[in-house]
Amino acid sequence: MSNSKRFTRINESFICANCEKEVPMAHGGKCRNHCIFCLHSLHVDINPGDRLSTCGGILAPNFIEVKSDKNIIHHKCLKCEEIRPNKCAEDDDFDAILRVMQSSKLR
Ligand SMILES: [Zn+2]
Ligand SMILES: [Zn+2]
Repeated sequence: MSNSKRFTRINESFICANCEKEVPMAHGGKCRNHCIFCLHSLHVDINPGDRLSTCGGILAPNFIEVKSDKNIIHHKCLKCEEIRPNKCAEDDDFDAILRVMQSSKLR
């Protein structure tokens, strides 16, 4: 396993609005749209990556949909209550994913 954890601060790293950790940019040129530590995001897109929404509310992970190849995080905006699906990133904190799965099962 090659572990090249380089923190690239080019354009897409950001400070999470929920846990206030610095979220590094996604590798492979992919667009990072949620915090890898707590899985929260911000309601800034209408379509993924367009930054056209004026809502700006915090998107909290609501439940995880398990697909064969990728998990989908369903975020719920704490401001306008819109539900938005987002693909899990490869480096999302697995414990955080499990916590969301468990809490949504208990409901
Ligand atoms: Zn966070
Ligand atoms: Zn919103």
